[in-house]
Amino acid sequence: MVRKEALPLAPLADAGPALDLGYLARVVGRVETGQARELIDLFTGTARHDLLLCQRQLDEGDGVALALVMHKLKSSARMVGALRFASLAEKLEDAAKGSRLDAARLICGDMKHALGDIETALDRLADSLSQAVSPAPTFADTAHAADNLSLPQRALVVDDDPLARRQLELLLTGLGIGEVLTVEDGANALMELERTVGIDLLLIDLNMPGMDGIEFLRRLADVGYRGCLLVVSGVEARLLQSAADLARSKQLHLGGTLKKPATREALLALLSVVSQPAVAARAEPDAVLPDDILDGIRHDEFEVHFQPKVDASTLRPVGVEALARWRRDGKPVRPDLFIVAAEQHGLIGPLSEMLVTKALHGGARLAEAGFPLFVAVNLSAGWLTDIHLPEFILTSLQTAGFPAKRLILEITETSVMADANTALDIMTRLRLKGFKLSIDDFGTGYSSMEQLQRFPFGELKLDRSFVQGAAEKPATRAILAASLELALKLKLSTVAEGVETEQDLDLVRGLGCDLVQGWLIAKAMPLDELIVWLRERDSQA
Ligand code: C2E
Ligand code: CA
Ligand code: CA
Repeated sequence: MVRKEALPLAPLADAGPALDLGYLARVVGRVETGQARELIDLFTGTARHDLLLCQRQLDEGDGVALALVMHKLKSSARMVGALRFASLAEKLEDAAKGSRLDAARLICGDMKHALGDIETALDRLADSLSQAVSPAPTFADTAHAADNLSLPQRALVVDDDPLARRQLELLLTGLGIGEVLTVEDGANALMELERTVGIDLLLIDLNMPGMDGIEFLRRLADVGYRGCLLVVSGVEARLLQSAADLARSKQLHLGGTLKKPATREALLALLSVVSQPAVAARAEPDAVLPDDILDGIRHDEFEVHFQPKVDASTLRPVGVEALARWRRDGKPVRPDLFIVAAEQHGLIGPLSEMLVTKALHGGARLAEAGFPLFVAVNLSAGWLTDIHLPEFILTSLQTAGFPAKRLILEITETSVMADANTALDIMTRLRLKGFKLSIDDFGTGYSSMEQLQRFPFGELKLDRSFVQGAAEKPATRAILAASLELALKLKLSTVAEGVETEQDLDLVRGLGCDLVQGWLIAKAMPLDELIVWLRERDSQA
């Protein structure tokens, strides 16, 4: 993904403009005139209230409380582009912290004027607002980037500042998140999470009255929240660090932190990282309902695509991996999601039977087209314990007219080790029927050489996390080299998954890997496309 560096927001200028709408556009993205006005009005309302409060705190000589109020007001002002006002709030905060209350009183007076200027500027600019807040040129490609992300459907914003809540709501909606809920504190957030299913993204402010952010994280862990968390806060690094430590120790998924005010660019950059499949899979395990899967099977919506596996040195196609594809209401659903859901709801048997049947028919058609390749299918952990599995596969092979010796069954390292004895029993029976067994996602589990030796594997597939970018990462590279050495000792052929670049390819070739699979060669494609692809390659050879 092409990611633009997020431009830093300009520092607070002493004599900055009363209202900088370009700045506002940066922090809210594309908003309509009415929404921009609403944000600024929200701000001026808060500011007026806070200035009254400031007056009272000055009279009472409460510098600590005053500094706190100004700290918040500063960030609210920045958010709407009230830069001069923000700069004054910062000065007042400093003065209050240093107990220079006389100076603070003067600044407070200046702030009242500055607020008046903002209101005047707003009236004057009302007409030109639509132009100023329309997308700045830098948004063009970030808008495009958002199209390519698999964004969560539903997000919840937890912030006690109404302005921040509204700003984030506009930002998230602008990025295409279907539903954005907002609440003002941790207690309400917990209630919302209980009431509403499918909140996959949570944006929280750490600094909230009542239940603070850290306490909130603890409670979130207690209720087993599995979505992605983003901290949007102006708090200091130490607090952020302890939040991150806590999140890690409680298995919460902290996606990252954004400094207030969060800009569209910064948010997009974070989301592009956290919406990677592994993370999103954890965030929405229940997104696929059993009835959906049953409906999908009934209406024959599941398909199989094929990704080539090629010889690492000659790049000649040797086999294909069959990968499940499903479009529900026209939208693709990620295979890891529906496979996990099918396992959870006891539907992996019927689903796998349908997928294997399609994969084997595809394999037979490939041979008819002149490409007698190996076909690999994925066996999920849940199906591996089905005692009818070996017989089912045999019957399917016969029906499809595909030879057993060209079938490879990919089984993940973790699923094998979860119930090693049962797996060993079934796998031995499968092996006896003549199928080749492949250990998938190798490196992600904890199997030892001794354990591996017990299983009748013929092939080892190195997980793509050890392949991608390994050239630049010595530790990753070392794991890769050790895994390949292990495979050699166990006399297993090896496949490197996820080869995306020439560099990846050179590295795994150099380490002696037998086969490669990855987007550098080809993505998974429908059978007809695959046949065209194979023919083109043949004619080039
Ligand atoms: P897997 O078995 O590890 O499959 C390889 C995954 O890596 C596929 O994702 C494939 O599209 C992706 N991939 C291949 N080359 C590259 C590359 O160069 N870069 C990157 N970033 N990715 C690459 P996919 O199709 O999304 O499938 C995800 C997982 O879902 C599979 O992981 C497998 O565990 C499961 N799955 C897919 N189809 C089936 C199926 O028919 N049955 C079962 N039980 N599981 C399946
Ligand atoms: Ca696989
Ligand atoms: Ca794999």
